[in-house]
Amino acid sequence: MTEQHQALTALLDVQAVDSELHGIMAKAKSQQESEHVKALLGRRTQAIEAAKQLDAQGKEAASAVDTAEAKVRDIQAKIDRDTERLNQGGSAKDLMGIQHEIDTLTKQRGDAEDTQYQAMEHAEAVAADREQKLPLLRAADAQAKEAVTQRDQELAALKERHQELTAQRPGLVSAVGDEALVKRYDSLRNARGGGRIAVARFDRDTCGACGTHMSPGDAQTIANTPAASIPTCIECSAMLVR
Ligand SMILES: [Zn+2]
Repeated sequence: MTEQHQALTALLDVQAVDSELHGIMAKAKSQQESEHVKALLGRRTQAIEAAKQLDAQGKEAASAVDTAEAKVRDIQAKIDRDTERLNQGGSAKDLMGIQHEIDTLTKQRGDAEDTQYQAMEHAEAVAADREQKLPLLRAADAQAKEAVTQRDQELAALKERHQELTAQRPGLVSAVGDEALVKRYDSLRNARGGGRIAVARFDRDTCGACGTHMSPGDAQTIANTPAASIPTCIECSAMLVR
């Protein structure tokens, strides 16, 4: 095995790490931009808003019931007071006046009771609506939280693997033992957006990077390349390891 063959073989190990790193970055990006998580978070925001509205409606309905109850109590107190005055006796005219007032108040109490009843019915309807919707809203919240947790766990795993590989890379690069070759590799790899296969095995007249099967003439040219230079693929420019 020539020194250059050893260097190129070591470069294949560097590339294996670089390819995995490239894949990790792509996966992390797609996780971060996940439409699924975005959709769930959107639903969660809507659910929180809907829950707030249901709570506000519930409070409003309860307060309307309190107001109606207070009004009925208020009227009842007046009726009680008048009834007591009536029982204490007095001139016929006074008693008639009091009786008239009691009659008026009794009618008012009837109206107030109707209002109270309606308020209670409305509060019950609001509470039933809330009870029906709340589990769905909680589910939307839980689903979004779970999706975010899962995404974060996957991102953490990717980050950990990324750190491992990044730590391995310098050792693999120094095993190549040829700075110029590594530089050439890096520039080939980072060309056209990066992530390209820069070095590949050449087996059975086929480029391991792009899969091109060479004509007998091209294969012969590659085979005849002097040991000191590196043959490259005519299609993808990858450095070929014979
Ligand atoms: Zn090729």
